[in-house]
Amino acid sequence: MDNKGILIVVSGFSGSGKGTLMKVLLEKYNNYALSISATTRKPREGEVEGVHYFYKSVEEFEKMIAKDELIEYARYVNNYYGTPRNYVESQLNAGKDVILEIEIQGALKVKNKYPETLLLFVTPPDAGTLERRLVGRGTETPDVIKSRMLRAAEEADGMDAYDYLIVNDDIEECRDEVHRIIQSEHCRCSRNTEFMNQIKEELRGNLKGEL
Ligand code: 5GP
Repeated sequence: MDNKGILIVVSGFSGSGKGTLMKVLLEKYNNYALSISATTRKPREGEVEGVHYFYKSVEEFEKMIAKDELIEYARYVNNYYGTPRNYVESQLNAGKDVILEIEIQGALKVKNKYPETLLLFVTPPDAGTLERRLVGRGTETPDVIKSRMLRAAEEADGMDAYDYLIVNDDIEECRDEVHRIIQSEHCRCSRNTEFMNQIKEELRGNLKGEL
């Protein structure tokens, strides 16, 4: 089979549990590389530079844009977020499946640029669960929670553009489901053109030998 990594975008409403989902996915399976984004958002308590994000000033971020160091970027609730190019390209070339955990505008830009990208959308089972998770997180002000709920309503309109919908009810089931989907993608014919060409050639060679 072709040994190329797959570029995977995971989106979902803020509070859908996608962050935890990515954490448990990477803990259990080892062929995934999670891209670390740059952002102008301030770190939340417990977040670490270079682990959760690369924290940038607006000027620094705009410089990265100007130098074309980002595959995509978007504004989300008054902050910039973007995906650094170097890490993604080197990991894909090394055969890793690279996961971008990004919001929907960025997801669509990535799909446009790299049409073979696999788009996964993570959703909680219902809207009430989403609000309870955002409140329970205890890190956001009521205003931020309100803007994130509004944003979720907008983002819901874009779910149809994704390839797979992941309902995050039981985190472990969800983790294994995401892994199965990605593994199945590796078997897609369009991702295995080298293998197919090689076996076609071998078979033709065999036939010639027999004649
Ligand atoms: P948070 O502030 O909760 O960490 O992230 C807010 C939103 O920004 C989430 O939906 C997250 O997936 C998204 N996000 C994180 N990094 C990036 C990125 O590099 N590009 C884009 N477009 N969105 C991102």
